Amino acid sequence: MSVLPNFTIPKTQTVALVEKSGGTVAIKNDWPVTQQNQLKPGECLVKIQATGCCHTDLHAALGDWPLKAKSPLIGGHEGVGIIVAIGDNTISDRKVGDRVGIKWLADSCLNCEQCRNGREQNCPDAKLSGFTVDGTFSEYCVSFCNHVSPIPEGFSSAEAASILCAGVTVYRAIKYSQTQHGDWIVLPGAGGGLGHLAVQYAKVRGLRVIAIDSGEEKKKLCLDLGADAWIDFKETKDIVAAVKAATGGEGAHSAIVTTAHPSGYTQAVDYLRGGGTLMAVGLPGEAKLEASIFFTVFKSISILGSYVGNRQDAYEALDIAARGQVKVHYVCKRLPELKATYEGLKEGTVAGRVVFDLEQQ
Ligand SMILES: [Zn+2]
Ligand SMILES: [Zn+2]
Repeated sequence: MSVLPNFTIPKTQTVALVEKSGGTVAIKNDWPVTQQNQLKPGECLVKIQATGCCHTDLHAALGDWPLKAKSPLIGGHEGVGIIVAIGDNTISDRKVGDRVGIKWLADSCLNCEQCRNGREQNCPDAKLSGFTVDGTFSEYCVSFCNHVSPIPEGFSSAEAASILCAGVTVYRAIKYSQTQHGDWIVLPGAGGGLGHLAVQYAKVRGLRVIAIDSGEEKKKLCLDLGADAWIDFKETKDIVAAVKAATGGEGAHSAIVTTAHPSGYTQAVDYLRGGGTLMAVGLPGEAKLEASIFFTVFKSISILGSYVGNRQDAYEALDIAARGQVKVHYVCKRLPELKATYEGLKEGTVAGRVVFDLEQQ
C-alpha cells in the first residue's frame, strides 16, 4: 500500500463543482476524497497546490462544445501537486512524494496506432482532465501515473500550472509549424494568456516574431518578451499589408491562429508566403475555418490542426520554462473566485493567466 509517510488522506475536501452542464459553478466543502484503497492500478491521488484556469474549462462548464463533458463535473486541467497515494499493483516510475502536473490529456492507452505514433491526445480511449474525468479545481485529484508530468525541481507550482495547457499547446504548435531558425512567425493575440507564452517559445526556437494584438500594455509586454515586430489590429487598417511589410514584402512563414473569428484564417492565408504553414490551435465551439481555396493551393499553404500536446511535448515545454527561458504572467486567486473568473473570461476582461492557489483556502 502506497501512501505518503506521515500523511492522512482526509475524507472530505473543497471542490468547485458544475452540478449540471450549462449550470453555474458552486464551491462544495464536503466533497469525498478518493482513498488509497479505492484507487485502481495505475491511478494516483494528487494533492493539488496550484491550478490554472483555461478557456476550455469555461466551454466544459457551459456545455457549448460538440463533445459533452461528464456531469456533475469538477473542471480544471492545469494542476500541479504532490502524489500522496498510488493504487495497489501499479507499475510506474512515479512514486509518492513526487511533484507532478496534470494536463488536459489525463490518460491514454499507449498501445493504439495514435499512441504508438505519439499522438496520445488522439487516442480513442483518451481521458480528459476536467472533462471526461474530474479535474484539478479540487484539493485532491485522481490522475494516472503514466501521464502525469514530473515538474522540474525549483520551478514554482503556480508557474508550472500554466505551462501544462497554455504552454504545451503553443509549444507543440510552434514545434510543428514547419519553421526554421530565422523564419517569421505571426502570433495573433500575442499579448494574451496563450500568446505571451507563444512569443517566448518562438524566440527560444530562433524564430522572428510578429506580434498582433491591441493596446499599449500588450505592446510593451510583447516587445519586452522579444517580439521583432508589433501590429496593433485596432490601429492598422490592412493587417495583411503590415505583415508583408514587416517581412520585407514576402509574407510570414507561419502563423499560430487561436481565434474563433474566420477573418483570422482568411488573413493568414493572405499574409503567409508561398509554402507557409497555418497552425489552427483554438477550440471554439462552432466557428468554421474560412480561407481561399484558390490561394491555399496556389501558394502551397499547409493548414494544420494542433491539439494540446503529448507527454514529450509537456516534458520539453516544462523544461524550457523551468530553465527560465519562458516566464508566465499570471495572477493568483483563490478557488471561490472561479465563478467570477468565468464571467471575466466570457467578457474577455481577463488579462494573462489566472492561477488558483489551493494551499491557501
Ligand atoms: Zn486548457
Ligand atoms: Zn491509445
